Amino acid sequence: MEKREKLYEGKAKAIFATDDPNHFIQYFKDDATAFNGVKKGTIADKGVINNLVTSKLMTILDAVGIPTHFVQRLNDREQLIRKVSIIPIEVVVRNVAAGSMSKRLGVPEGQQLPRPVLEFYYKADALDDPLIIRDHALVFGWATEAELAWIEAAVKRINDVLIGFFANIGIRLVDYKLEFGRLASDPSQVVLADEISPDTCRLWDFVTNEKLDKDRFRRDLGGVVEAYQEVARRMGVSGES
Ligand code: UDP
Repeated sequence: MEKREKLYEGKAKAIFATDDPNHFIQYFKDDATAFNGVKKGTIADKGVINNLVTSKLMTILDAVGIPTHFVQRLNDREQLIRKVSIIPIEVVVRNVAAGSMSKRLGVPEGQQLPRPVLEFYYKADALDDPLIIRDHALVFGWATEAELAWIEAAVKRINDVLIGFFANIGIRLVDYKLEFGRLASDPSQVVLADEISPDTCRLWDFVTNEKLDKDRFRRDLGGVVEAYQEVARRMGVSGES
C-alpha cells in the first residue's frame, strides 16, 4: 500500500490517501485540544499510544463481530483503515456521570448510572458540537432510522465488551465518544470508525479513581503523559514496534 497526499488534518489526527481508493491511512498526532480548540498543547508520544490503544480495541471489537474501519496498524503513528464517509453524529456512551453530563444536570461526578446512557451530538465545530435528540438526526437526514437502530444495537455490544476489557485491567470505563461511518465500497454498511483512546474516553483507576485520560490535560492535573502510558502498559501495548 503506497501512501499518497494528505486529505484532511484534524485536531489529533490526519488522513492520507493511498493507491487504493477504498483505503486511507490514519495518522495520530501528539497535538491535544480541549474545549473545541480553545485550549491547545502537545502530549509527548500521545499519537504513538493512541495508535496502539485504538488498534488493540478495534481488533478486540472486530473479533466479537463489530465491523470497524480498522485494517491494521502500520507503524508507530499510522494505521490502515477502510475509507468511510463519517456520519456527522458523535455518540457518547456514559456508564458513570461525569463531564458535561454532571455539569448540565447537576449530578455529582462519579455517580454510577443504573444503566448506560447514549447521547448524540451533531458534529459541527461552528456550533460547538451541540447535544441533539434522535429526531434531529432523522429530520435533518444526518442518519437514517435503520442506521441509528444499527448504531444503538452495536453500542450496547461495544459497551459490554469495553467495560469488561477495562475492568480486567483495573480501569473503570466512565464514558467515551464513538463515531461511525458508511463504507465507501458499500454505503449501506455502517462500521465503527475514528479512534478509541484516552483522548476520547474517561478512564478511572478502579481503586483510587485516579484519572487516566485527557481530563488530566483539560483540567491541568499534571501527569498527562504518565497517565496515557499507564493505560498502554495495563493494556499490554506499550513498547511494541
Ligand atoms: N468526547 C470526545 N470528543 C468530543 C467530546 C467528548 O472524545 O468532542 C468524549 C470525552 O473524552 C468523554 C466523553 O466523550 O470521554 C463525554 O464527554 P463530555 O460530554 O462529558 O464532554 P467534556 O466534559 O469532555 O467536554
